[in-house]
Formats: sequence, structure tokens, C-alpha cells
Amino acid sequence: MSPNPLSRRQVLKTFGLLGGTSLMLGAMDAWELKGAPAGPRPQLRGTQPSTRVLVLGGGISGLIAGHELRKLNYDVRVLEARDWAGGLTWTVQRGDRHTEMDTGERQVCDFDEGHYINAGAWRIPHSDEGIIGYCRELGVELQVFINASDANFFYEENPDLGPLSGQRVRLAEVKADMWGSTTELLAKAMNQGDIDVPLSGDDLERLTQFLVRSGYLDSEDYVYSPPAARRSEGRHDLGALLQSGFWARARSLNQETGGPAPLFQPIGGMQQIAFAFERELGDRLEFNSEVRTVRQGEDDVRVVVRDTRTGEEREEVADYVVCCLPMSILQKIDVNFSPEMAQAVSETGHAAVAKMGLQMARRFWEEDEGIFGGHLWSRSLQLGEFSYPCYDYFAQKGVLLGYYGSSRQAGLDQLPVRGRIEHVLTQASKVHPQMREEFEHAYAVWWEKIEYSEGAYGRGPSDDLLTRLGRADGRLYIGCAGASEDPAWLEGAVHAAWRSVEALHERVMRG
Ligand SMILES: Cc1cc2nc3c(=O)[nH]c(=O)nc-3n(C[C@H](O)[C@H](O)[C@H](O)COP(=O)(O)OP(=O)(O)OC[C@H]3O[C@@H](n4cnc5c(N)ncnc54)[C@H](O)[C@@H]3O)c2cc1C
Repeated sequence: MSPNPLSRRQVLKTFGLLGGTSLMLGAMDAWELKGAPAGPRPQLRGTQPSTRVLVLGGGISGLIAGHELRKLNYDVRVLEARDWAGGLTWTVQRGDRHTEMDTGERQVCDFDEGHYINAGAWRIPHSDEGIIGYCRELGVELQVFINASDANFFYEENPDLGPLSGQRVRLAEVKADMWGSTTELLAKAMNQGDIDVPLSGDDLERLTQFLVRSGYLDSEDYVYSPPAARRSEGRHDLGALLQSGFWARARSLNQETGGPAPLFQPIGGMQQIAFAFERELGDRLEFNSEVRTVRQGEDDVRVVVRDTRTGEEREEVADYVVCCLPMSILQKIDVNFSPEMAQAVSETGHAAVAKMGLQMARRFWEEDEGIFGGHLWSRSLQLGEFSYPCYDYFAQKGVLLGYYGSSRQAGLDQLPVRGRIEHVLTQASKVHPQMREEFEHAYAVWWEKIEYSEGAYGRGPSDDLLTRLGRADGRLYIGCAGASEDPAWLEGAVHAAWRSVEALHERVMRG
């Protein structure tokens, strides 16, 4: 391993410096910002009914740790501060509420019944077999998540991007015209013998047919004629397309953040996974139980827990603790880690990320624009990954993901919720003028401002930090996604929970 490995951020910056924004986009897609799936579930044997384990935190990692330890017959309980399970898999729906920690601003969700926004996790790559395995085991029904669609728009206002700036341009136009223009050049050059391809005459003929078909070329003169599926008249000039940088998304395979299609989502929202674990755990999952301090000694671990309804504190005693709290919280509460582990925990970080869902009276993106899922791609609008719902198609109403990006972009974290909604409506109206008229309700989740999260997903720890976080610290194990190589994905939560349970169980079975 190189002594000073480049971080992903540094590499992306280098790409950006070398090739401008479009190359940056391509690099991000190629990387997918995604670690490996958790691998096979550990096969654990033996039961331990007399060993007491407290799992701290009822997010997906804590729920998995509790579920697996219960199956091994441990005397296990999961302590969760909130009155609901799931942590960052929160699916906000009617009646949900929270108060922002810095300003005290309170929101209550008034979406219509049945409508929701996944405020945290929202898509599951098909390769994430760990979490998909639990959906299968617990009967959580999945449906396809549309991560990109040819109908989706690009919209940029930067004049440096040439004649296409200021226009809505569909991915279908970009793909058709890029392929059309380039296959046209290639087919003509091949026909004139200008390209030396080591193929037989028959195969050359077949290759030409491939170019004609994939580029929508005229089979006689190899001129590109834009197909109806491109969805609008005319064609964009190749130079204009190249200057726009939109081509970075026109790739041969359907591959977006999270990896190759298909991706999946639970029907009814991501929190369905947490609800399924909750049903399995029953009264082993204790809500309103805020962990205040953790003290490990020679023989046991003592955890002080505050009942968030009454304010009363109690002490719980266990043989081991699996700590599945967010790292941002773990850094703050009083835990007597060894100096090495305390140092490792202090080195972790998290992303400052926010989402906003907006309920619309009419699914105008479907009715007027023929968009069924995917995103709006724009840097100028400062909306991050604005997205269209890929469930409940053709219903009357729908909830758009109007904002998914840095919580600090455009100074949004300094604005009251109304100001953030204004930003989204103003910016998104440039592409969808229907926004204001159809807007009904919004719900904003700025994760850093939310108690018991105080941040979104963790930042990828280095290999060295991962190794240190992955070791048992006396009677304590860290099992949250932030202690995995995939902290921004559920699969990271699966992996960290499995690693903790496996290590703990092996130790207990060894006696
Ligand atoms: C905006 C966003 C988008 C994401 N998108 C995806 C995606 O598309 N696909 C994907 O796979 N993953 C995604 N993720 C990542 C995924 O949600 C997380 O990796 C995963 O949910 C983390 O689970 P966890 O159990 O480790 O932590 P958390 O979910 O943070 O759970 C920690 C739990 O501890 C509880 N807690 C906190 N303090 C205390 C205390 N003092 N006492 C007791 N309990 C406490 C919290 O209430 C919470 O329930 C996304 C995350 C975010 C924020």
C-alpha cells in the first residue's frame, strides 16, 4: 500500500482540474462511490442464553446485530433513543416530526396519507446481497428503483458550456445525437476504407450494420436521422454537445451511483426494512432509551440510559456491548474506551447532507414530460440530485425529491425551512415551471440538525482506521456503518454488524 494514498476526493479534484466538469462527472460515475458487498453471512453455531448483550442504537446495524444475537439465543436487548426504529432509513410520512437542534424550528409532515419521502437511504444495488438477503428473510417486498431514464433532463446555465446552456436537454437527445454523429463519422470512414479494421469482409459488413442500427443511420448513405424516440425535433450539433459535457452520462451501460442497473427499493419506503426487524425483535427492542454513558470494567459493562419520556435514568448491566450509534454521537457521549479506540473514534467523520421532499398536487413530470423516475442533472440549479418518484406511477399526486445534496450548499443550512423550500421552488421552476402551482407540502431533513443523528452517513475510513475500529475494545464492539468500508450504504451497516457479532460470538464460545 502506498504510504500516502490519494483520497477519492483528491483524485476527483485532479480529474476536475484536468478535464473540467464533464470529466469529473464521468469519474464519479465510474467510481460509483461504493464499496464491495458485505459477502456471505457468517454461519454461526452454538447458543448462549446466559450471556447478556446490549446493542446500542436501533438503526439497521443495531437491528441486524440484535436479530442475529437473538437467533443465537443471547440475552440481547437493543436500546434506541427515538420512539421509532431505522435511524438513517427514515421514511418520512404524515404525522412524522422533528425539531432542528440549532434553531428549534419544528416540522410536522403533512403529506397526504400514503405519500412519503425516504429522507436517508432510498436505493439498494442488486449486488448488495447482505441487505437484500434480510429483505428476503423478513418478507420485505422490493421493487425496481429507476436511477436514470432517457427522459431525464440536463439543465446548465454556465455560458462556458456553449449553446446548450440555458436549455433543457434530455438524456435521450444527448445519447441519440452523440451516437448518431459519431457512428455516422465512423461508418462513412469505414466505407471509404479510411479505417483499417482487422476483420473479414463479412464481419466488416456486420459491423457497419451495427453502426447503422445503434446510431440510427440511413443504411444507404450512413447519414444520421434522429429517431422519434429522441423525443424532440432536430439534432444537436456535435461540437455543442461536446462543449456541454452532457456526453459524460451517455454511456454504453446503464450504470449510475450504486452500480449497474437494476437497483431496488422496498415498496412503501426504506423504513419497511426497519419495521420488519422491529416485528422480529419484539420487546427486545426498547424505544425512548437514550444511552448516556458506557462504563466497562473487568467483569461487565454498565450503561446509563435515560428514558426520554420521563427523564429518569437507569443503569443497565451486560457482559458485552455492541455499539451501533452514529459515530457523530459516539464521539460525544461518555464511553471509557481505551485511549487507542477513543483516538480512532475521534478520527471518523460524516457527510453534511440534506434532503427535501415536496408533495405535488399533480404528477406533472409524468403527465406533461413523460418522466418516470430518474433525476434532473444540473449544477447551476444547486439542487443536488433532484429526483422523480419511481413508485405509484399514474397516481394523482406524488412526492418529488426536490433536494439531495450538501446541507450547506447556497447557504441553505442558515435559512429557515420556508427559505429552503423557496430555493427549491425557484430553482426547479426553471426546468419545471409547473412546480409552484402544483406545490402542496414540503418536509426538509438536514441531518446535521437532527438529534440522535447529528450528521448523515460516515465518510469512508482509511484501511488503517477501519482495522482499528474493527477490533474489540475490551467488552465493547463497534458495529455501525461508520465503522465499515461502505459507510454511505446499508451494506456497510450489514457488514459492521456481522463483523461485531461474529467476533463476539467466537470469543464467547471460546469461553
Ligand atoms: C441522505 C442519505 C442517503 C442514503 N442513501 C443510501 C442509499 O440509497 N442506499 C443505501 O444502501 N444506503 C444509503 N444511505 C446510508 C444508510 O442509510 C446508512 O449506511 C445506514 O442506514 C446506517 O445505519 P446505522 O445503523 O449504522 O446508523 P444509523 O442509521 O445512524 O442508526 C443509529 C441509531 O442510533 C440511535 N441513537 C443515536 N443516539 C443514541 C443514543 N444516545 N442512545 C440510543 N440510541 C441512539 C439513532 O436514533 C439511530 O436509530 C444513505 C444515508 C443518508 C443519510
